[in-house]
Amino acid sequence: MRKITILGSTGSIGKQTLEVIREQKNIEIVALTANQNIELLEQQIHEFNPKCVVVMDEKKAMTLQKKMGHKTEVLWGMDGLITVSTLSEIDLVVTAIVGMIGLRPTIAAIKSGKDIALANKETLVTAGAIIMDLVKKHNVRLLPVDSEHSAIFQCLNGEQTSAVESIILTASGGPFRGYTKKRLEEVTLEQALKHPNWSMGAKITIDSSTLVNKGLEVIEAKWLFDLRREQIQVVVHPQSIVHSMVEFIDGSIIAQMGLPDMKLPIQYALAYPERVINPYPRLKLGDIGTLTFEEPDLQVFRGLALAFDALREGGSMPIVYNAANESAVDMFLKQEIKYKDIVTIIDQAMTKHNVTICKDETDVIEIESWTRNIVRNR
Ligand code: NDP
Ligand code: MG
Repeated sequence: MRKITILGSTGSIGKQTLEVIREQKNIEIVALTANQNIELLEQQIHEFNPKCVVVMDEKKAMTLQKKMGHKTEVLWGMDGLITVSTLSEIDLVVTAIVGMIGLRPTIAAIKSGKDIALANKETLVTAGAIIMDLVKKHNVRLLPVDSEHSAIFQCLNGEQTSAVESIILTASGGPFRGYTKKRLEEVTLEQALKHPNWSMGAKITIDSSTLVNKGLEVIEAKWLFDLRREQIQVVVHPQSIVHSMVEFIDGSIIAQMGLPDMKLPIQYALAYPERVINPYPRLKLGDIGTLTFEEPDLQVFRGLALAFDALREGGSMPIVYNAANESAVDMFLKQEIKYKDIVTIIDQAMTKHNVTICKDETDVIEIESWTRNIVRNR
């Protein structure tokens, strides 16, 4: 029996993880966490009987504890997240929280020897070097949940790292594929929240429309698979059937395919190294008909180009790329800025930043606050 904690169980990935667990009976939920959606967390407590849960707000946690009695312990805040990520009885943490808030609990989990099923890409983007060192030092598994990285992880099964020429990340291109710069300026919040192929949380849906999500995934891939910037390619594939590919030194390319359904990579991470039967709809290539591929337009989708710049600059620059984007997307979701401002804000913050090297999470959080200040005071 695998015993796990899910950070962010009320979100898109969190809920789909629970769907997977309903099918796979050999996983026990020890802890769940939520931010705003206490009502859903309560339903999850009744169904899965976790030993403890975390709510970010202290008052809400107290109210929930009264309702739950002694059956489930309710913790709160960052200390709560760290506690449930390091419980002695768990062996794996699913990091399905959105944003850099996931950094400290992930680091704490690794330090206490827990395997990680990583959805929260922002942690690896901002602290890749630190996290990968800790993963080695504590000999834990970092299992990708992001569909592209799960695909690459699967393509690399049984292969030597030295045999990899490059990886090819696929991108759907989002709702604004084919748009000109001018047309992007008119985009509304409602349009940006409609992804053609995937149903996801609000922040990643906006990130997918600007291609910043692909930018974050480029940086995530660099760390997960120990690649140089030149070894990472992006190709637009609107059908989202090929989830990503690896090109080997002999010219062979291996791809992983499936319907766009996050339950597959989630299940793969939870069951690794096993494969498990499931009842989910299957890909029928005859029904799909045509798979197409095209180069991304880096002039129009500057959000992706800036990620490659951040990688070239290295050090603390990816933190600025990520934190400026988190702040900007937050403002866009509150309709405080226009769509086109998101990428401008990232660009401006990166231009102002002098790269340093972060030795630990405190340094990372400091650069994050610096960036948030720059964005706020612009
Ligand atoms: P959602 O917005 O749907 O869910 C986020 C989860 O985090 C919710 O449980 C939410 O709680 C919780 N949360 C939000 N803010 C905070 C906070 N400040 N403190 C503590 N908890 C918080 O996001 P997704 O599930 O879409 O994405 C989660 C992560 O997975 C992201 O990093 C994303 O990039 C990545 N990912 C997502 C994919 C997807 O298909 N959705 C695909 C690949 C990667 P509540 O709902 O209770 O407020
Ligand atoms: Mg992805």
